[in-house]
Amino acid sequence: MKIVFATNNAHKLSEIKAILGDRMEILSLADIDCHDDIPETADTLEGNALIKAHWVYDRYGLNCFADDTGLEVEALNGAPGVHTARYAYPDRHDPEANTQKLLAELQGSDNRRARFRTAIALILNGEEHVFEGVVNGEISTEKRGTEGFGYDPVFSPEETGKTFAELGVEVKNQISHRARAVAKLAEYLQNL
Ligand code: IMP
Repeated sequence: MKIVFATNNAHKLSEIKAILGDRMEILSLADIDCHDDIPETADTLEGNALIKAHWVYDRYGLNCFADDTGLEVEALNGAPGVHTARYAYPDRHDPEANTQKLLAELQGSDNRRARFRTAIALILNGEEHVFEGVVNGEISTEKRGTEGFGYDPVFSPEETGKTFAELGVEVKNQISHRARAVAKLAEYLQNL
């Protein structure tokens, strides 16, 4: 079976190939010659993942899955949520500015509870399926650690006392929001 993962992120692609690669052929957007700037206009993570998966299924006639991730902070009523990638600037992705904005918004706040949530949408033979992965934790008061990307230096998964950037990629990939959503997708695909 051939399936498209609607991404060009090499890291995400190798992660999923490591889990599913011996069972099916996983193609990226570049592999199917799709260079479109797919609009992410929905107001939920699930909605954006479905837009991306449908974009490929409807135009290319290939089964496809896509992911979308958000950081949801309790004291900020779930923000940045669907705006996580462009939290500091609506028109561009600046991870350092995003992190600084988050620390500034939470300055002096006792409630630092937050969660990372990933939604994966799968369109298989025209049918929609959605898988979710969540990791609960808190936002640290300053950046700590050097590994990972994005908000990793300020997100501390519960019961670890360390940020994702301190825990390192190997530990992170066993407990992360994305790993949990991918595990559910993989279980579903492996049982077909
Ligand atoms: P995407 O939907 O995977 O592109 O994620 C949206 C944004 O969330 C990214 O641009 C990052 O800023 C942030 N993000 C997603 N996953 C992670 C993670 O595992 N660690 C830190 N930040 C993340």
